[in-house]
Amino acid sequence: MSVKVRFAPSPTGMMHVGNARTALITWLFTRANNGHFLLRIDDTDQERSKKEYEDAIEEGLKWLGMDWDSKARQRERMDIYNEKIEELKSKGRLYPCYETPDELDLKRKSQLSRKLPPIYDREALNLTQEQKSKYEAQGRKPHWRFKLEHAPIEWEDIIRGSVKFSGADMSDPVLIREDGSPLYHLCSVIDDMEYGITHVIRGEDHVSNTAAHIQMFEALGAKVPTFAHLPLLSDMEGGKLSKRLGSLSLKDLRDEGLDAMAVVSLMARLGSSDPIEPFTNMHDVIEKFDLGKFSRGTPKFDDKELYRLNAKILQIYSYNDVKNRLADMGLAEMDEEFWNAIRSNIESLKNAKEWWQVAKGPVTPIIEDKDFALQAMELLPPTPWDENTWQEWTNAIKEKTGRKGKQLFMPLRHALTGMEHGPEMQQLLLLIGEEKVKERLQYKQAAA
Ligand code: GLU
Repeated sequence: MSVKVRFAPSPTGMMHVGNARTALITWLFTRANNGHFLLRIDDTDQERSKKEYEDAIEEGLKWLGMDWDSKARQRERMDIYNEKIEELKSKGRLYPCYETPDELDLKRKSQLSRKLPPIYDREALNLTQEQKSKYEAQGRKPHWRFKLEHAPIEWEDIIRGSVKFSGADMSDPVLIREDGSPLYHLCSVIDDMEYGITHVIRGEDHVSNTAAHIQMFEALGAKVPTFAHLPLLSDMEGGKLSKRLGSLSLKDLRDEGLDAMAVVSLMARLGSSDPIEPFTNMHDVIEKFDLGKFSRGTPKFDDKELYRLNAKILQIYSYNDVKNRLADMGLAEMDEEFWNAIRSNIESLKNAKEWWQVAKGPVTPIIEDKDFALQAMELLPPTPWDENTWQEWTNAIKEKTGRKGKQLFMPLRHALTGMEHGPEMQQLLLLIGEEKVKERLQYKQAAA
């Protein structure tokens, strides 16, 4: 059987690690099965959907190395939704309701106070034609609910195993708003059916929706797809990631200098029984992908892990692998020798920029003790320098001045970099080079 799968984001906010994970797993499953990947933009929420978010979703997917075989926008599919609405009405599965949001709220509160589950009581099913006309005359417009069958609903979920619901324990879902516009449940089911989606992979926040969707597929005479509900990511304390999602948008991670393959490597494995390992190309990720290895447990997202993976990936990259990206960051002049010297010492390409700036300048040295700086300069070992030069130099200074620890190292760092913290001095010394090292140690603005 050939698989057809979709990723269906709502363009109502920035794409973050959570959606990126769903997108990636969905995409990897499709590619691993030589299937068809549909990008479906769920933009029926007219107020919150924005073109800029849709663009950011596409950009984010491309950045991570994903492509799509076709694309659809729900807003452009109203004709087909209306056609299916008529079908559901004629089958008696859609019914008009006239309660206002306040009235519904009141019902819910009263049920809860009586310790009853807040399930819609279907009062609207008993309305006579006369009552309906009366509401209409008052200017009330109906919203429409799908009439669930009070029967067991069961499916075999790729991740959750056997899942059971009962139609009797659920509220009839609202499919059409008062203004006549169709809602997510309706559009999603019709699209999945019309596009022949074989596997629906999405977050576990949709599990109860799926129970209702299954009855909707059946009511429309469609084949029910296979479902896989992924647990949502949590933060390291097990709390919701949503609070931090602002800082975890794909755009921010990219601006931080993270490599797309670090995000891919983590998201392709987090929550699965396969180990997390650094991948440098998508081909290998697809080859080794297995949806069956994902479990129900909530995976914890750790951004430190992302940086660790990034560092490992950068160590693997040759100069040619990063050349264009360095140029995009204004580092076109960085050569292969420089890259090879720093690549084991950086966590992100942003660090590469720091190394470059410190090595090449301009740097404003901080000189607290002019004599010490001059003394240090005189003790510089002769060139050519190598990996041992820093050690030799600082040993000589220690011997001559009696300084050690912080007293010894801090003034040198201050003088050579103008900063409190920064890259390893041992490597940095070589990258700055003799001429600039001497220049900085003799910085003329030195305090007396
Ligand atoms: N637009 C929905 C969401 O972002 C899609 C869920 C689904 O995959 O059906 O949650």
